[in-house]
Amino acid sequence: MNGTVQREDDGDGNRQDRVADTFRRLFGAAPDGVWAAPGRVNLIGEHTDYNDGFALPIALPQTTLLAARGRTDGRLRLHSAQGDGRITDLAVAALAPGAVTGWAAYPAGVVWALAEAGHPVGGADLHFDSTVPTGAGLSSSAALECAVAVAYDDLYGLRLPGPELARIAQRAENGFAGVPCGIMDQMASVCCTAGAALHLDARTPEDHRQVSFDLRGQGLRLLVIDTRVTHDLGDGAYAALRAGCERAAALLGLTALRDLSAGELPRALEALPAELVPLVRHVVTENDRVTEAVSRLREGNTAALGPILTHGHASLRDDYRVSCPETDLAVEAAVDAGALGARMTGGGFGGSVIALVEAGRESAVGGAVTAAFGAAGHRLPRILTVTPAAGARRLGTR
Ligand code: ADP
Ligand code: MG
Repeated sequence: MNGTVQREDDGDGNRQDRVADTFRRLFGAAPDGVWAAPGRVNLIGEHTDYNDGFALPIALPQTTLLAARGRTDGRLRLHSAQGDGRITDLAVAALAPGAVTGWAAYPAGVVWALAEAGHPVGGADLHFDSTVPTGAGLSSSAALECAVAVAYDDLYGLRLPGPELARIAQRAENGFAGVPCGIMDQMASVCCTAGAALHLDARTPEDHRQVSFDLRGQGLRLLVIDTRVTHDLGDGAYAALRAGCERAAALLGLTALRDLSAGELPRALEALPAELVPLVRHVVTENDRVTEAVSRLREGNTAALGPILTHGHASLRDDYRVSCPETDLAVEAAVDAGALGARMTGGGFGGSVIALVEAGRESAVGGAVTAAFGAAGHRLPRILTVTPAAGARRLGTR
């Protein structure tokens, strides 16, 4: 977390003022404050967090803003500009897994997880407004949760460290919203800093490190290509992959696949049933790719990430098998058009692809991907140029 920092401005007026104004209109009083939590893309280290492994996400400039005001009567009232227009009204004391459905489960889950962990939290009025695309693999769900976590941390004077807030938000998603994600998304949303990637060790999130991720200074740009597809098999497949990794670790006598080194990999693969071999190979080589990427960034060689990204994509496509025709096509078209490297980011089965490109090549690469999608008859992608932005924070007052 970065404390109180800049105001949140965008091209079409001031988002922070707008969210506070809407809050006033909805709830009849000014908010106690406005908080922001970003979406994320992961540079490398996919499907590693739930194997106690490594990841390297950046926070996006796209954020979920939350105007919030504490309440003393134990009510939790929720409204989102991206919701159905209604205010969801809940009692904090009655929050329980399964009791809340739809989008409100993510923010309500955070309040539930804080209370479950023994923190003295009560009600609040919450109004959200987000620029993080939802369901695009950019972690709008984590942004929603982490905005609540940081706002409650301030409203109720909890003063929890960032990784603890991330754990609470993850617990909300796992235990309340029912999504079995690892901790990377929430760690990225809470703990990233501007200009840096977050070197995450999912076994000990407290030990995360900031690694300078210099795009501008090295004449580079990062594109996010939202393929605008999600394939339904995502949820069940994710749980099955997770279970496969846990079974492999157990067969190898390890706490988690993170405890298997690349040197030990060939031996270990011989001992495993055939269906687990590609899973284990992906996780072990992917952890190595994170370590290599961090080394290259520490040397100041951002461009060297390119081939690491593309190798990572091949591993997700061929070994972990979580890519899909649209993400494969985006990667292939981007690289053919001169991107230094590209890969899908997030859990897979659709979502977004990142491409590292030389400055000035954004349009050529983006145009080539769009043309390839058109030729294949896919819905056209949405393409953003992003920079490594700050993690969740309270926004300053004027
Ligand atoms: P991702 O996290 O990659 O965007 P998820 O499927 O995990 O995709 O989360 C998307 C869901 O999160 C949406 O369907 C919605 O329920 C919820 N959500 C995210 N942001 C908002 C928002 N600003 N307002 C309402 N719901 C949101
Ligand atoms: Mg999500």
